[in-house]
Amino acid sequence: MAAVPAARPRPVPLPRRWGVRASEVTALLVGNGLLIVLMWARHGGLDELDTPGGILTAIGQLAGLLGTWLALVQLVLMGRSPWLDEAFGMDRLAWWHRWLGFTTVWLIAAHGAFTIAGYTLTDGSSPIAETITILGTFPFVLWSLAGFALFVMVGVTSMRAARRRLSYETWFGLHLYAYLAIALAFLHQLFTGTDFIHDPIAVGYWTSLYLLTIALVLVFRVGQPALTSWRHRLRVSAVVPEAPGVVSIYLAGRDLDRLAVRSGQYFVFRFLTRDGWWRGHPFSLSSAPNGAWLRITVKVLGDGSAGIARIPVGTRVFVEGPYGVLTGARRTRARVTLIAGGIGIAPLRALLESLPANPGDLTLIYRASHPLDLVFRDELEQLARHRGARVLYVIGHRGGGHDGHAAGDPFGTQAIRRLVPDIASQDVYLCGPTGLMQAVEGHLRELGLPRGQLHAERFAY
Ligand SMILES: Cc1cc2nc3c(=O)[nH]c(=O)nc-3n(C[C@H](O)[C@H](O)[C@H](O)COP(=O)(O)OP(=O)(O)OC[C@H]3O[C@@H](n4cnc5c(N)ncnc54)[C@H](O)[C@@H]3O)c2cc1C
Repeated sequence: MAAVPAARPRPVPLPRRWGVRASEVTALLVGNGLLIVLMWARHGGLDELDTPGGILTAIGQLAGLLGTWLALVQLVLMGRSPWLDEAFGMDRLAWWHRWLGFTTVWLIAAHGAFTIAGYTLTDGSSPIAETITILGTFPFVLWSLAGFALFVMVGVTSMRAARRRLSYETWFGLHLYAYLAIALAFLHQLFTGTDFIHDPIAVGYWTSLYLLTIALVLVFRVGQPALTSWRHRLRVSAVVPEAPGVVSIYLAGRDLDRLAVRSGQYFVFRFLTRDGWWRGHPFSLSSAPNGAWLRITVKVLGDGSAGIARIPVGTRVFVEGPYGVLTGARRTRARVTLIAGGIGIAPLRALLESLPANPGDLTLIYRASHPLDLVFRDELEQLARHRGARVLYVIGHRGGGHDGHAAGDPFGTQAIRRLVPDIASQDVYLCGPTGLMQAVEGHLRELGLPRGQLHAERFAY
């Protein structure tokens, strides 16, 4: 094990603030949806409504347009654009992506079903004969059928029951087929869609939506990470065990005093070993950025994190980011309580180190089932002394009832009120296992904490 590099803290620049609001992005998306409905109406969508076959065909067209557009929105939502991260946070983006994703698959299925039903009624033929005619004679429709099959596969493997059975990497790999699905559908829209055949402006608009989406994905998913990784040339400089199954990885690199990142944020790391380069894992900084090195702290859960715990010193690292809104930028109050569960301590340890605060303003509550699960104990005590902060450990299993009031629950509503009586007038930063986060969010609501004062980061999408 290499020695831990010494820190000479230097200020680092803050990440750019884009100033984009969630309401503005939502208005843009809804506005675009309306524009698409207008385009459909302008191209005769409403004129078709005078026969049953026409009505079904018109619904099918609209479903196809909106489904394709929503599919592009999916790529933008998960394209790791920092302005979207700032406006929504990746958690909310992932939530929207999940539910809009299912809506997309249903809309595209409705496009096929309604179009076939409409043509069948209009031509007075059978659905099977109509399907064969459409697939056989309309240009690129077979391609889009292949794209639809891929969409269904992505949707099915994202359902909870299937998702639980798949490893993250398998699920993610299958998810990438959505890009191919979207590409396969493009030509059939331009060459068979009544909205596009005779209207070059509509073709220009539709093609621009595709080009804009591709540009955003290329810039923020590929270009920006490649540039950051090339500029800073990160390498593993030390691997330090912290507790059973938990290691800290120290990263050294070039010009780290020019890497704009804040405490509470995370990067997606690819450790460039033979087995590890293809997997990206998100890890939060567990030390405030100091311009000399970065530190992450990893709990071994599965194959990926087990490999990272054994990573050789000197390994090159590719990073995407920084991302995340669990930062001081979200702060609204002078007094702050940080609540950590398990490895959720990593970003909160960095915030404890660097959030501006007067003595007495900061409290860290660290929840664990067993004292052996605690990491950074010495560092936390040292920081608490240095910063005039309180560090409280809540150890023990959740016993008794599950409503948070049970005497056996060491971290129910009453316990939180006892530990921080004025918590409703503070900002709360929360990070930990999903179960703990859901329970604590419920307790904080009961204690009257306004939503805008709760800042949370989930460690699983
Ligand atoms: C924003 C964020 C910050 C995180 N910060 C930390 C941290 O500071 N320290 C820490 O120990 N862990 C952190 N995690 C969790 C960490 O990324 C996963 O535990 C790790 O990737 C597990 O990989 P695995 O192959 O070992 O486990 P697996 O057994 O493959 O997966 C275990 C769990 O991790 C999830 N997971 C696996 N790979 C990824 C991935 N690439 N992206 C998102 N989720 C994944 C899986 O869905 C599953 O729930 C963070 C996660 C997120 C989303």
